[in-house]
Amino acid sequence: MADYPPDVTPSEGDRLAEVIKDWSLAHGLTVKPPPTLISAEADPKGILATAVPVTLFPSPFPRVCFDQGIAVQQAYNELYASISQDEDFLAQVVKEIGDSDDYITELWKVHLRVKQEGYVQSKSLGLFRSDYMVHQYAAGSTPQIKQVEFNTIASSFGGLSSQTSLLHKYLASNEYPWLEKSIKRNSLQLPQNQSAAGLANGIRQAFIEYGPSATNHERCVIFLVQGGERNIFDQKHLEFELQKSEEPIIPVFRLPFAEIMQHTSIAEGAGRQLLYRPPQLPAHTFEVSVIYMRSGYGPGDYPDQSAWEARYHLERSAAIKCPTVLTQVAGTKKVQQVLATPETPSNPSIIGRYMTAGSASISSLTSTFTNIYPLDETEAGLKARKIAMDPELCKAYVLKPQREGGGNNVYRSSIPGFLKTVPEPHWPSYILMELITPPPVFNTILRSGQLEHGGVICELGIYGACIWDQQAKTISHNDQVGYLLRTKGDKSEEGGVAAGFGCMDSCSLV
Ligand code: ADP
Ligand code: MG
Ligand code: MG
Repeated sequence: MADYPPDVTPSEGDRLAEVIKDWSLAHGLTVKPPPTLISAEADPKGILATAVPVTLFPSPFPRVCFDQGIAVQQAYNELYASISQDEDFLAQVVKEIGDSDDYITELWKVHLRVKQEGYVQSKSLGLFRSDYMVHQYAAGSTPQIKQVEFNTIASSFGGLSSQTSLLHKYLASNEYPWLEKSIKRNSLQLPQNQSAAGLANGIRQAFIEYGPSATNHERCVIFLVQGGERNIFDQKHLEFELQKSEEPIIPVFRLPFAEIMQHTSIAEGAGRQLLYRPPQLPAHTFEVSVIYMRSGYGPGDYPDQSAWEARYHLERSAAIKCPTVLTQVAGTKKVQQVLATPETPSNPSIIGRYMTAGSASISSLTSTFTNIYPLDETEAGLKARKIAMDPELCKAYVLKPQREGGGNNVYRSSIPGFLKTVPEPHWPSYILMELITPPPVFNTILRSGQLEHGGVICELGIYGACIWDQQAKTISHNDQVGYLLRTKGDKSEEGGVAAGFGCMDSCSLV
């Protein structure tokens, strides 16, 4: 469609902003207001919410690329479920990251300690999100998606994303037809998006697979959260979806990471069931079937050794973890780099270990890879070091540490100067990745009541839900469960909505 998304006149912008604000507040497309907007004293009971930043129009997104992401998700789920079960491979990855990364080192220690006494839960839940940008080799050629990263822990925005799709659907059928550059009612191709329900269904299936309580306590699901979380409504949408189910009834509790030891214990006996006593229901004890982690993914959640003891306490319990330590390590950027490193005679394909050789899955997975290099002393690593230190060549790259949650990467010309501050023995804990440069898209972002029009960059995330059994080596549940489109101004390097740079969006397929 030519001229899509349209420019809006100031009065049209104001009207759309008003409609979007009201729709968002009425439908929980919201976050808690930042302290810069409302001080803690002004909202002591935490009763206020504010609309999330969102695009006025669903951004145009190539249908072939959207379909490609949807089609490959189950293969990605299977791949990461398999990697999570390959302890030897993950041990090698941790070794390559090296001792300089204290966070990954401590995380791995948790696994080793539990392994020593023996795991009592062989099942794992993965709620994944594979993130992509559109890449076009040359004008006129078919665009493809290239993977930015694969998330195995706290993959967020599934709760807000299905709401954003509904908002844009509402606008397409009610508001856009009245614009000066009218968009015909329901003429946009807006894909269904059931991300909240799909992710919740993954948790529900894990709850069922956990089986009956062994301690005669009612079972529950725990959302392990960060204190002061502003993105709470994203999580609440999942919780409400879970509680829609009448059979089984699933009690859900939010437990701050810092309070794990205060409110949970492990049952006596060999079963190591995790017991939870909700502070708001002092007479009740629950047996925890599933721990869904929306915290614990970065060093900030582990201020001291007692936080690591708490993670160990959960890991050794019988609750089904989303994710286990093994699955979290499988989601490191180092693993993504190893997968993307081309096969050589001395370095056989890693992906071939997990997927049937020559299968369509392998080619559909590898077609989403872009160039990623280690920064170690292998041949590829030495080449990458040269690129990273070259003031011209480095401009096409991003340097990533083994971290999650946005704000950790080093971009383009900042790479050489940054690396000079890092002792060389620590360089192998980073990876160097080619920047994906999607074709230009224009849109208007509504953020805190203000409209920002200009060039934007869109990142597509496809959600996956997967349950596997480490012992039986079987996958009992493998679904593609909806999508996220996150959009940022093209001047910003990072796109995290929570980090404050990006905004929610949905796809208008073209
Ligand atoms: P995190 O786990 O912290 O989210 P990401 O790898 O997703 O780390 O990087 C954060 C952001 O940086 C991405 O959302 C994207 O906007 C940008 N980014 C990361 N890698 C690339 C890349 N190869 N090309 C272009 N942008 C990238
Ligand atoms: Mg990530
Ligand atoms: Mg990311």
